[in-house]
Amino acid sequence: MQTYRNFIGGKWIESASSRIVENINPSNTEDIIGTVRQATREEARAAVEAAAEAFRGWRATPAPARGKIVAKAARLMEEAKEELAQILTHEEGKTIGESRGELQRSINVAEFCAGESRRMNGETILSELPANFAYTIKQPLGVVACVTPWNFPVAIPVWKIAPALVAGNTVVFKPATLTPGTAVRIVEIFEEAGIPSGVLNLILGSGSDAGDEIINHPAIKAVSFTGSNPVGIRLYEKVSRRGAKCQCEMGGKNPVVIMEDADMDLAVESTAQGAFGSSGQRCTATSRAVVVNKIADEFVDRIAKRAQSMRIGDGMDPQTEMGPSVDENQFKTVLEYLNIGREDGATLVCGGERATGDGLDKGYFVKPTVFDHVMPDMRIAREEIFGPVLSVMRVNDFDEAMQVANDTASAIANRDRRPSTSILN
Ligand code: NDP
Repeated sequence: MQTYRNFIGGKWIESASSRIVENINPSNTEDIIGTVRQATREEARAAVEAAAEAFRGWRATPAPARGKIVAKAARLMEEAKEELAQILTHEEGKTIGESRGELQRSINVAEFCAGESRRMNGETILSELPANFAYTIKQPLGVVACVTPWNFPVAIPVWKIAPALVAGNTVVFKPATLTPGTAVRIVEIFEEAGIPSGVLNLILGSGSDAGDEIINHPAIKAVSFTGSNPVGIRLYEKVSRRGAKCQCEMGGKNPVVIMEDADMDLAVESTAQGAFGSSGQRCTATSRAVVVNKIADEFVDRIAKRAQSMRIGDGMDPQTEMGPSVDENQFKTVLEYLNIGREDGATLVCGGERATGDGLDKGYFVKPTVFDHVMPDMRIAREEIFGPVLSVMRVNDFDEAMQVANDTASAIANRDRRPSTSILN
């Protein structure tokens, strides 16, 4: 069993706190992978201070030299690709194929960012004044906090950390509590690549405690956050209030629109991958299929057959097509939404319950689920479930499909206030 530590000012330090959290394999909850002592607020502050101290030296390091370190990290990640993919599947549950894909994407992003270190050019601007020379240069902000979720615990940290470092910022990285193993390994790789002390720091602590301390620290000049809508909105309010920059990538309720001229094989397979891939735990998951009536019966029949044929199991088995929910909370949330869908009057076509038997009893497995005749005002059509649940919404034509597809909380907030003849109003 592993003990995960924080990385502060170039040193691996175990937290002094007595709050211990276990890293549990979601495919088999008897398999405890490791433990973390959750970092205290003082330790979080120490990480920010270490990053602030390292900033002067790092910003003075030429960008191409910073890029070389990131390029080396990309190479080391490539060498450790299989090991990292296994750590990811073990602690998060996604299939080993999905983990390998995530790793490759992380390597690609790190390589791209390393290349950008030679392209951080400014501009010269023509001025109407004869003695003026106008130009722009790109400068780092200072200490940047990278706060990341558990569902892409390698790719999201890498695509926040690598560009921040190449641009000359120093970083405090706060990963999700559920995925400490991948976080530690990523930081070890940057350390091995030669990142100077204090330039990249890791805090393994709870969001509401250590995370809160980091994002509210005055030395943090920018926060890059990916996670849920409620947390992101609260964080944005706090960080922007003190004038620091805040970037939030949050949840989604994504539709696929299927018209009568669709290639049905492609429509079924891509919807199945979008809805059930990563057990639906993606902000880009396809959670609504908006289908024209003419082909709706055929589509529902075929997507249900595909859902029932999905091989559910431990992601380490290369035959597995869908792994478990990440933890007990997420598992219970998904099961609750299955009840909500039934109670709200949607037609359950398949799934709708926990998957058991065949070695699944010790994991957080949910059967891929299809609800039909889902109406736009039902909660399963509006709220992010983050589970393998597809809502089929039947419409008459393309115009109605567009209205239903765009009828989400954020789209409504952003759209024109034009009067509408929509059935939705
Ligand atoms: P959360 O919002 O719960 O957590 C995200 C991160 O924020 C975690 O590291 C968490 O720490 C931390 N955090 C929580 N509260 C605070 C706080 N008060 N101050 C500072 N940090 C805090 O999301 P999940 O980890 O549950 O991730 C799932 C969500 O992420 C989904 O809603 C999904 O849609 C979204 N997501 C969006 C993506 C996008 O690109 N738009 C990509 C991937 C996911 P801790 O783990 O300790 O609670």
